[in-house]
Amino acid sequence: MDLYEHQAREVFKSYGIAVPDAAVVDHPREARRAAELLGGRVVVKAQVKTGGRGKAGGVKLAADPAAAEITARQILGMDIKGHTVRRVMLAQPVDIQDEFYVSFVLDRAAGVFLAIASAEGGMDIEEVAATRPEAVAHIPVDPAEGVTDTKAAEIAAAAGLPAETADVLARLWQVLVREDALLVEVNPLVRTTDGAILALDGKVTVDDNARFRQARWGDASEVRDTDADPLEAAAAAKGLTYVKLDGEVGIIGNGAGLVMSTLDVVAGRGARPANFLDIGGGASAQVMADGLDVILSDRDVKAVLVNVFGGITACDAVAEGIVRALDSVHLTQPLVVRLDGNNAARGRAILDARAHPLVEQATTMDGAAARAAQLANR
Ligand code: GDP
Ligand code: MN
Repeated sequence: MDLYEHQAREVFKSYGIAVPDAAVVDHPREARRAAELLGGRVVVKAQVKTGGRGKAGGVKLAADPAAAEITARQILGMDIKGHTVRRVMLAQPVDIQDEFYVSFVLDRAAGVFLAIASAEGGMDIEEVAATRPEAVAHIPVDPAEGVTDTKAAEIAAAAGLPAETADVLARLWQVLVREDALLVEVNPLVRTTDGAILALDGKVTVDDNARFRQARWGDASEVRDTDADPLEAAAAAKGLTYVKLDGEVGIIGNGAGLVMSTLDVVAGRGARPANFLDIGGGASAQVMADGLDVILSDRDVKAVLVNVFGGITACDAVAEGIVRALDSVHLTQPLVVRLDGNNAARGRAILDARAHPLVEQATTMDGAAARAAQLANR
C-alpha cells in the first residue's frame, strides 16, 4: 500500500524530518483560504499515488490565493497516468538550491535493504539513473544493523550529498523500520538557499502484511480507492485476487500454485497472459461467476482459460458458476475450460449441457493452454 504524499509528509514530520507547511483540500475555494493561511504564495500539488506529477502538470506554483484557487481548479479532476486528482496539497514554496534523491528499498533478491541516493535528484532522476548510473549510489544496509549515524554519513558521502543530510537519512530509516515500509523515498530532498534540508516530496510503501499494525491507513478496500485500477478494485471488493498483465489470455484458476503454473504453460504455448485471477481454494459458483465477470471486463483479453483442479471446490460448482456467469455477462471471447479433480465428470457434463458456442473444454492443462493460446493469437 502506497501512502499519498500528504500522508508521507505527516509521517516524515512526526519523525523529525523537516517538511514545508502544507494543507490538503478537495475544492478550489478551500484552496484560496488555505493559501491565505499559508502566506499567499503556494505550490499546488496533485495528490495521486503515482510519480511524475511535476512533468504531467500536477505541480504548479501560484503567486497568491486567487491564483491558488485557479490552479487548484485546473489540477483537481486532472488525470495523471490514469489516476484522477481528487485532492490537492498546498505547500509553502521554498527556494531550492540543490535537489537530492534519497531512498531505502527492500532488495528481495539480495535479502538486504538498499540505500539509493544521488546528488542529482529532482524530476529527471530516472534519466540520470539510466544515462549516468555512477551518479546514483547504491549502498546495502544490513537490516540487523540498520542505519547508524556512521552508516548515514557513509551513504551521504558515497552519493556526494552534504553532511547535513545524514541526519535525515537516519530518521528516514526509522520511518522504514517503525512504519513497516518496504520503500521510503524522498525526491527531491532539497537544500534551500538558506541552507535548510527539507523533504519536498515523499513516497512511502507500507508492507501489506503489516496492515494489522498500521491500521490507521485504513483497510484494504478503503485504500484501494479511486486511484486503483478499476478492475482490481472490483475484484478486491468481491474478495478476489486479480492481477493485470500485458498479454491477451485471461486466466482463472483456483489456488496460487495452479494459477502460476498456468501462466507458465500459456507462455510456453506462445501466448501472453492478459491477467490472472485466483478464485481461491474454497470457491463457490458465485465466486466463479464474479471472477469471469472481472476477467471479461478486461478489453485486452482475446481468449479466457479457466483451469480448475477440483478439491474442496468441486468441479460441478465451478461449472455452475461458469453457467451462471454466461447468463449474466455477454461472452464475446472464446472460453477454454479445463476441469479436473473432484466431480470433474459432473462439471464437464454441466458445461456440455449448456452448449455455449464460445465455450470449449479440454481435458489436460497443456491442451487447454495450447487451445487458449491458439484462439488468442488468431
Ligand atoms: P513528482 O513530479 O510527482 O515527483 O512531484 P514533486 O513533489 O517531486 O514535485 C516536482 C518538482 O517540483 C520538484 O522536483 C521540485 O523541483 C518542484 N517543487 C516542488 N515543490 C517545490 C517548492 O516548494 N518550491 C520550488 N521552487 N519547487 C518545488
Ligand atoms: Mn518527486
